[in-house]
Amino acid sequence: MLQQHYLCGGRRQDAVSGAVFAVNDPATGAQITSVPNAGEPDAVAAIDAAEQALPSWRALTGKERARTMRRWYNLLCEHADDLAVLISAEEGKPLAEAHGEVDYGLSFVEWFAEEAKRVDGNVLQSPQSDKRLLALKQPIGICASITPWNFPMAMITRKVAPALAAGCTIVVKPAEQTPLTALAIGELALRAEIPGGVLNILTADAANSVTIGKVLTSDPRVAHLSFTGSTEVGRILMRQCASTIKKVALELGGHAPFIVFDDADLDKAVEGALTAKYRNAGQACIAPNRFYVQAGIHDRFVARIAERSAALRVGNGFDRGINVGPLIDTHAVAKVRQHVDDATRQGAQVVAGGCAGEGNFFQPTVLTGVTREMVISREETFGPVIAVARFETEAEALALANHREYGLAAYLYTRDLARAWRVAEGLEFGMVGINAGAISNEVAPFGGVKQSGLGREGSKYGIDEYLEVKYLCVGLQ
Ligand code: ADP
Repeated sequence: MLQQHYLCGGRRQDAVSGAVFAVNDPATGAQITSVPNAGEPDAVAAIDAAEQALPSWRALTGKERARTMRRWYNLLCEHADDLAVLISAEEGKPLAEAHGEVDYGLSFVEWFAEEAKRVDGNVLQSPQSDKRLLALKQPIGICASITPWNFPMAMITRKVAPALAAGCTIVVKPAEQTPLTALAIGELALRAEIPGGVLNILTADAANSVTIGKVLTSDPRVAHLSFTGSTEVGRILMRQCASTIKKVALELGGHAPFIVFDDADLDKAVEGALTAKYRNAGQACIAPNRFYVQAGIHDRFVARIAERSAALRVGNGFDRGINVGPLIDTHAVAKVRQHVDDATRQGAQVVAGGCAGEGNFFQPTVLTGVTREMVISREETFGPVIAVARFETEAEALALANHREYGLAAYLYTRDLARAWRVAEGLEFGMVGINAGAISNEVAPFGGVKQSGLGREGSKYGIDEYLEVKYLCVGLQ
């Protein structure tokens, strides 16, 4: 499954320039392989290919597209072990977690293959007796997708599967750190006989990603851009899309709060916190970045979470029994260190971990006495740090939790049903876990409010992103 060519128009290709760039293992720093460094002419060729493929792909019935996607799904299932190895190798997460990501990524292909058959319009009740009114749903056209490194498979299938199901064609630009999983997914699409040009995957380094981004966001033939990544880059891409009025779907930064009330089930709250925070070493946009714990349960929660964090094994994701893998690169380690140092300088206490290991590893860390002035309370850490602040009242917790900028995911733990509803309804976030630390699945609408993004992925709503509603007014003679 290790591919060294990008995918364009159903062909495995080198970059027009012949350039390549290295893909490294974040656990060891060793080079795994190199892949083509696509640039502007490659991006134009990929859009050409998507344009050529569109009429015949769009013309298929939903049922025919569903069958083709099902072949792809079956091949992805057959190669699940290979995909998990690629994910661990280029992204670093422990192999067991990589298998979890493969299952999660597969679920979108299965779900949207099924949804392809259920794209229905409406017959509307006409206010005039001599007219019949209809709303049809049609594919939006050529789509572009720019994806991040933290979930190298799932972030691609969550976008590509609904696009293909809707009858769109797509050009994907995976993150420069993790192109290998993307290329394997593309190779299996080719073997599944998804027609050439329907799915195109361009690999590029950081500098060329910016160039390709400019082509994808400015070409008038591209109707839709879907992006998952930082809020900062989301802003740039949205601005670039403005000149040709593209529809945009953005999944951006999160900075999730995790609220534990005095009446919470302590065991469940601890398990939920560990699951939500340490998955992928904290490198997830829905990972909690701020833990607000009520005074009556605070010390017990901190003691348990510190003990459990200290017991986690950090290391190469391929080694047996590893719970937390490396961070993606040295910049990520520096950022986590900066957040921890800033917090301790301003009075936070380290009750577990607190320091980096060799290379890109960082010890699971628990901080207490965190205040809203600290950088960690405002900016995404994207690392294995549990930053705890104590609160007294429900109103105080809600006010602390509602962030000025971010509104992706939030979590709360309580056994009081009325409080659960009150707080969940008051949280200004797109997704809320109530006594649940693992909230993502293909059935759920994933997405944020405020500057955490636009649109929803997965679920019965996710395909709407790739459809336009066309109104027909039929006059009766
Ligand atoms: P992170 O900080 O998590 O790496 P980014 O938002 O920087 O997230 O990157 C997410 C994706 O966006 C990657 O595929 C990256 O190559 C791409 N990207 C980053 N900057 C730009 C840009 N200016 N134009 C287009 N794509 C970009």
